Amino acid sequence: MNTSDSEVVMSVLTANGYDIIDSISAAEKKKKKKKKNEVKDEEEEEDDDGQQVPSTATMPEVILVNTCAIRDKAEERVKTRLRQFRSMKTTSPSSSVFSKDFNISNNNNNNNNKKAVIGVLGCMGERIKGELLKKDSKGVRLADIVAGPDSYRDLPRLIENAISSSNNDNRQSKKNTNDGGNESLVTSSSSRKRFEPKITETMNVELSTTETYSEIFPMRRGKVEDMSTSAFVTIQRGCDNMCAFCIVPFTRGRERSRDSASILEEAKKRFYEENAREIVLLGQNVNSYSDKTYVVAAAGKEENSSSSNTAARTTTSNGVYAEGFKSVYVPSRNQEYDFAKLLKDVCAISPELRVRFTSPHPKDFPDNLLQTIAETPNASKLLHMPAQSGSTTALERMNRGYSREAYLNLIDKAKAIIPDVAFSSDFISGFCGETEEEHNDTLSLLKRVQYEQAFTFAYSLRDKTAASKKLIDDVPEEVKQRRLAEVIETFREAAKEKAKGEIGKTHLVLVEGTSKRDDEKCTGRADNGKRVVFMNENGEKSSKKGEYVEVRIREAGVNTLIGDFVKKTTAKAFYEANGGKAWYA
Ligand code: SF4
Repeated sequence: MNTSDSEVVMSVLTANGYDIIDSISAAEKKKKKKKKNEVKDEEEEEDDDGQQVPSTATMPEVILVNTCAIRDKAEERVKTRLRQFRSMKTTSPSSSVFSKDFNISNNNNNNNNKKAVIGVLGCMGERIKGELLKKDSKGVRLADIVAGPDSYRDLPRLIENAISSSNNDNRQSKKNTNDGGNESLVTSSSSRKRFEPKITETMNVELSTTETYSEIFPMRRGKVEDMSTSAFVTIQRGCDNMCAFCIVPFTRGRERSRDSASILEEAKKRFYEENAREIVLLGQNVNSYSDKTYVVAAAGKEENSSSSNTAARTTTSNGVYAEGFKSVYVPSRNQEYDFAKLLKDVCAISPELRVRFTSPHPKDFPDNLLQTIAETPNASKLLHMPAQSGSTTALERMNRGYSREAYLNLIDKAKAIIPDVAFSSDFISGFCGETEEEHNDTLSLLKRVQYEQAFTFAYSLRDKTAASKKLIDDVPEEVKQRRLAEVIETFREAAKEKAKGEIGKTHLVLVEGTSKRDDEKCTGRADNGKRVVFMNENGEKSSKKGEYVEVRIREAGVNTLIGDFVKKTTAKAFYEANGGKAWYA
């Protein structure tokens, strides 16, 4: 989700005259290159990678860090990174530190000696808010800007204010130095107030009930041929589920869906203009999607209009959920356009486009969605079904809205409806009050379902959550870690056993590129989400990124399948040859 949000941020800022720099080391490279070539003219030059580089290329004026708040560890890592950014303003940066962050420079300002303005975006900013603008216990003010996930449109204002504030700061600092004084950083006036406003000159953490950035086309960087075969398309934001352990409803706000027309437009552009062959539909509770702007006209002709939402048919019945699941809120969904319909419409763009989605809640897998996935060959057959625990009593404390039995019934139903379905899941070890028996229930669930992938975590208490208010984080850290190790080991054993069934099967593989370990081999993904490595053909016939090939599996591990190239194909030809329903014909 953060990658997708960063693409929205880049769009907003480029539209406001900012240039995006991949990394600070890239900025330095450009600066050195400019010096070496002594470019005299005022026109823009072409960089090695073909991108337009302003002749006034400078070190970035602004560094923005998009953040996650789901676990304490992630926040600590961000803080360390922010301290490095602060200290590196006056020293030479190392490329590795910046490789995953993007930096933004406004080429209207060419003052290399100026200190970079640092901004914290996303969930951590939303959670900690103005704390980041104050000096910490080490006397470092970690950020100059804080922008929550719903305030990216406000970034140009926040940046301009922070830059002017920083200019004033520099002048003040110089004055203080001349006076023999110490450098003093401006403290946000809001930090002196007991109740902090959500919007100030350099902070906006107001959560919205409507913001979906629907008309902003997220910016992917680089040349089309270098882009990943996968593209993210955000369809939904926020979550109303209030799982007891989770900070997301507090950092991302209320559940809301983007209109389907803008989603389809973005997905088509990714497929036709950027050669994306896999679209990943994103949302905090992605399969709760519902386009309330969609109406079916009286004549039976489909319409899509954001202005006609009053005519949309909504439902408050529990029929929208999988059997045996409930939620703490009453769902309000437009049954004319739910997640199943969106999935089908995105898949219909082309049979050559594979469609995945993340992150879903198991309650939002009603029968019609399972049916749609079964009947739509290019809808990925790897379903993420976050269980979190295999124990009904632990699930009750977690506020998940289902029992172990309801979850297993859903797994069995999906297996019955969708041939070759595979599952991935999330698991938390050591949640408040977790007993040995409850932990063993999780282990037995892992053995029973045989997941393809598992994302496993030791519980980390987050402020504001229901668990922090009503429960006690009473499982000792060493017990959490021991249980986590057992969960991982059990997952691996079960996955290894399941993988044996892959040997001899032929998979449709979307080629992602050459193997990093051996350039005579290619890697790609099978429909069940598994990485597949196979020996490439030679010469001109070799498989290329974005193509489909058939691969027969020879060896199978927990994470990777090794196979032999059978032939190049198209997804459509493969589906037809393997009994896929040709809905696109
Ligand atoms: Fe968090 Fe639960 Fe919502 Fe997932 S469904 S984002 S775990 S509150």
